[in-house]
Amino acid sequence: MHDPSARGNDFFKCDFCLSAWSEDRQMVEGHRGALICVKCLTLAYAQVVTQDAGQAAPAGVACTLCLEQRTQKHWRSPLRDEAWACERCIRQSGQVLEKDPDSGWTRPGRG
Ligand SMILES: [Zn+2]
Ligand SMILES: [Zn+2]
Repeated sequence: MHDPSARGNDFFKCDFCLSAWSEDRQMVEGHRGALICVKCLTLAYAQVVTQDAGQAAPAGVACTLCLEQRTQKHWRSPLRDEAWACERCIRQSGQVLEKDPDSGWTRPGRG
């Protein structure tokens, strides 16, 4: 999310943990300024993709990143109950980070 009350790096906050952007906390942008940081994405990717342990979002709940209600598995933020990320967004965000040499991100392995 974008925090209009903050300046500089604090303007950019992860929708899933509310941490601000920093050198070691890069972000991937979803629709309408939604943001997920690398740390949340790593958790989400490990749970939903690597461990195949995502959960269905309740009826009426849309993915925070794409704003669509999907039937696939989701990751729910442990810090913000209302923040959900669908598997599609998690995979896409992972691809974006993998292609970005500055991110240094690699998809989490098993165990
Ligand atoms: Zn985060
Ligand atoms: Zn999504």
